[in-house]
Amino acid sequence: MQNYYLLGSPIRHSLSPAMMNLSFSELGIDAEYGLMETDIDLLPSAVQKLKENGASGWNLTMPVKSAMCSLCDELSPSALIGQVVNTVVNRHGKLFGYTTDGAGFRRAACDAGFSVPCRKMVLLGTGGAASSILIESALSGSGEISVFCNRPSSRTKIEAVAKRLSDYSKTKIKTFFYSEPHALENEIRESSLLVNATNIGMAGRPEDSGTDCLIPDIRCLSAQPDVFDAIYNPRKTPLLNLAEKAGCRTANGLMMLLFQGAEAFRLWTDEEMPTPLVRKKIFPDS
Ligand code: NAP
Repeated sequence: MQNYYLLGSPIRHSLSPAMMNLSFSELGIDAEYGLMETDIDLLPSAVQKLKENGASGWNLTMPVKSAMCSLCDELSPSALIGQVVNTVVNRHGKLFGYTTDGAGFRRAACDAGFSVPCRKMVLLGTGGAASSILIESALSGSGEISVFCNRPSSRTKIEAVAKRLSDYSKTKIKTFFYSEPHALENEIRESSLLVNATNIGMAGRPEDSGTDCLIPDIRCLSAQPDVFDAIYNPRKTPLLNLAEKAGCRTANGLMMLLFQGAEAFRLWTDEEMPTPLVRKKIFPDS
């Protein structure tokens, strides 16, 4: 039997075991996907143990996605540019690192009828999800991407990603702070796609008021860009509520979650995940 795992912390509520195990069983693949609670300090020893036990591959989530990079023998171009790994394939003891969040985003956006690559995207956020979305959108040939940053150190980090990307892509990438007067409004007005890849609007943030949204006013959405929110809990964030009221087409992050898993499944098995079945059984409200 082949063994696959999810590493990170906390992970007990993850839907990945249900998605992967249903897919293995549907395709008759003799494999099992389990959870391995792991923090950054414990990651090297956990990886050593997985190698010794001959695990075929694993996914990584917060907080161990970046720390996995230096433990891989080879990185895909996206993982190298973003310095983040969420999927490892163990090929005869050599570890190959990939990031599938960006491809998951692109498939989810296309599933919603949005166009990626796009003419111009406004991207809110500079963290792991945002950099994966930035990289995939640029590598697939988007024209222009305006990234909004919260803190100066985050701007420096995403600009380093953009610099590495410039060796592979001609996409024009600009960065802004939310505090720059009218910048958000002006950039959204010219864009065809607005993507939220921050935590703002996510359920369970201690400081959340339940109405948190980085778009200050419905008039910012008057040009009606398509609006994608990487958050899937809640299904309808304050941003998506506002966008619906403005008449925009909207999509949440649920299908990004499904398709990033489907990309990992394909890397491990060379088979397509049966996504219609997984969607029906694991995401019945999608
Ligand atoms: P992360 O690396 O921690 O990034 C969080 C981002 O939010 C950072 O850019 C951070 O900026 C920004 N942020 C936090 N507080 C802010 C504030 N008050 N104002 C403006 N920006 C703020 O997290 P992540 O892994 O990228 O995840 C981000 C979101 O995407 C989460 O809600 C997660 O659930 C979702 N996600 C979804 C999928 C999917 O498959 N659908 C996959 C991955 C992530 P600073 O660091 O500068 O504060």
